[in-house]
Amino acid sequence: MKIPTSLIEIAEKVGNDITLVQGPGGNISYKKNNIMYIKASGTKMSDAKKKNIFVKTDLLKIITAIESNDPDPIKNSWSGDGLMKPSIETSMHAIMPHTYVLHVHCVNTLSWIVQKNFQKRIGIHLKDIKWIAIPYKKPGVCLSNALKVPLRESNANVIFLSNHGIIAGSNSANDVFSIIKNISQKLFLGELEKKIIDFSKIDKYLFNKKYKLPEYEYVHQIAFSYKYSQMATKGIIFPDQIVFLENGIRYINNYDEFIKICNLEDNKLPILIIKNVGVLVPKCLKEVSEDILLGLFMTILRIPQNNSISYLNNSDIKDIINWDMEKHRQMMNK
Ligand SMILES: [Zn+2]
Repeated sequence: MKIPTSLIEIAEKVGNDITLVQGPGGNISYKKNNIMYIKASGTKMSDAKKKNIFVKTDLLKIITAIESNDPDPIKNSWSGDGLMKPSIETSMHAIMPHTYVLHVHCVNTLSWIVQKNFQKRIGIHLKDIKWIAIPYKKPGVCLSNALKVPLRESNANVIFLSNHGIIAGSNSANDVFSIIKNISQKLFLGELEKKIIDFSKIDKYLFNKKYKLPEYEYVHQIAFSYKYSQMATKGIIFPDQIVFLENGIRYINNYDEFIKICNLEDNKLPILIIKNVGVLVPKCLKEVSEDILLGLFMTILRIPQNNSISYLNNSDIKDIINWDMEKHRQMMNK
């Protein structure tokens, strides 16, 4: 059985759209004759045409394991070398009945699904779409278990995963992409008006060799809004923030506060939002973390300012920190 060209093409297209996926986030799958091809954990969708990013799995085995509440339903469901493991989110793809399933961390969608009670307000933008929303669960088997009954009862093909992303299913790769793109466009209601960055104000901070400018200029924008800066520093809004921005984000008012933070060891340095100046990132910050940071700030800057955020709680955060599957994803992106 061959991997359909359309699967590879859509994977690459989605992977190149940073408003849909950042770093190794998001995944896509294809099912046929009790086999499911799914993106390997830690690989990037944007690499779909450059190399094989898919793992062949035994769908029947996974579904049977999920139905019998196996704590590790994807165990022994694939073959191949040790580095190509199926995505953390394989079980979620398996229980979707559709041939093609696409899951993304779309920033336009995230700007809604991190808000408290978004379910009551989102529907008006989603007429003609069969959707449901479920509360935050740790990605993987906890999430797919939480999804089983609502999915069966609703017959929905679009599911909003609170504080995480969106998953959609259809019978063609192009169609599932259109569904996601359409929702993304409908849920974009605007973002913070952009300010011109005065880089001469940032220069003095750069004499210190511990920090550098962020890869994406866009991320500076948050520094011009106290409210959005608070949203970014008060808590964790999605799991990849824990995995790839592990030293957190701090808001500082001036150079004196900056110097104090520079006394920290290199591997403890947080991202810094400098009031009305811009954003600095630790010199050692990796490309994948730059992408996650951009996704996070794009999400926040799209949230209407009078809305409140539903942050992940401490036990959600601990579950992600201590999770071996996430350690594998981190390792693949070193
Ligand atoms: Zn995800």
